[in-house]
Amino acid sequence: TLGATMYLISACLAGQPVRYDGKSYVYEQIQQLIQLKQVITACPEVLAGLPIPRKPAEIAGGTGEDVLAGRAQVIDLDGVDVTQAFLEGAYKTLTLAQQHHVSTVVLKENSPSCGSRFIYDGTFSNQKVSAMGVTTALLRQHGFNVISEAAFFELLNPSD
Ligand code: SF4
Repeated sequence: TLGATMYLISACLAGQPVRYDGKSYVYEQIQQLIQLKQVITACPEVLAGLPIPRKPAEIAGGTGEDVLAGRAQVIDLDGVDVTQAFLEGAYKTLTLAQQHHVSTVVLKENSPSCGSRFIYDGTFSNQKVSAMGVTTALLRQHGFNVISEAAFFELLNPSD
């Protein structure tokens, strides 16, 4: 409806089985917003043509901003450089956000694409670092408000 807030939300947070391991998350409040037609979903990695399932990937030697600047690569568990796919997914997600005039972007924490506070450190040893993923970095560079699912639920449920 006119004036309703539009959200762009990671597809895996909206129940779509697009994660590298084919899993997803179902949250009642996100499902309600989908029913209200206030959500568009996107999975940057699937938009880039990566398969489901796929090997997990991490940013090696930098952050999402470094990947955008050509200073770091995204490498999967087999050692394959998937940087170009991650860049393509980020730019496709940016286009969607711009086309739909979204006001808030909610992306899955810890992902090399979608992380907004934390990502894994590139060593596949389950160690997180304070940094953002490639898609988050690109959307923030273009002025979008990108938050994690935890921050989103804090916004929706301020008394929790
Ligand atoms: Fe796709 Fe982002 Fe979810 Fe990973 S975290 S499955 S890239 S939407």
